[in-house]
Amino acid sequence: MRVILLGAPGAGKGTQGALLAKKHGVERISTGELLREAVRRGTALGQEAKRYMDAGELVPDDVILGMVREVLGGAGGGFILDGFPRTLEQAEGLDALLEELELRLDAVLVLRVDEDVLVKRLSGRRSCPECNAVYNIYFDPPAVAGVCDECGAKLVERADDDADTVRRRLQVYERQTRPLIDYYERSGTPVKYIDGDQPVEAVQAAIAAMLKPA
Ligand code: AMP
Repeated sequence: MRVILLGAPGAGKGTQGALLAKKHGVERISTGELLREAVRRGTALGQEAKRYMDAGELVPDDVILGMVREVLGGAGGGFILDGFPRTLEQAEGLDALLEELELRLDAVLVLRVDEDVLVKRLSGRRSCPECNAVYNIYFDPPAVAGVCDECGAKLVERADDDADTVRRRLQVYERQTRPLIDYYERSGTPVKYIDGDQPVEAVQAAIAAMLKPA
């Protein structure tokens, strides 16, 4: 299975990508997570990426393409791409890389969610730094505000989930990433649209139905 998950920040790409990867036994490649890991480890790449991420801007294409090239070859031919590609240049770079590896995409899944819901999902998101449990102060709050139900650790907010940066990230999506939907519509790879404003299980079921061979 080789699939791209497209959608605005907060559309549920991470959640659905993880479920899909587990179900099909393939790797989920999230460029956002790879970058956050590089930032945590303080690598040169992490240090360069951090200032873009904190501002809600995109990390330069050459940095991203170099990173993806490293992981894609080792993914054993199957993968779920989450948060990549995000620009036309990245999409073209991915095409070249897939051609080199003699691989074809099965589908592009577009998760659609209204902007007011996206803002609440992102600005309300809190996560546990210890066990990685994720909450939302509007939709799925912990029993005690600010404390993880699972392990009792103090919950944290992602640096780029504050209201101003969220607005910027959504603008960047509209301007730079949404045009990829047209790009893939013209490419011959099937593009499937999913209503992302439903419970996690319902979105999962909708995706499963769309990926079933006809
Ligand atoms: P995400 O976790 O996918 O929302 O990504 C968080 C941040 O990482 C984004 O706001 C960007 O600054 C950066 N980032 C992640 N993936 C990419 C990408 N494919 N191209 C450029 N920047 C990216």
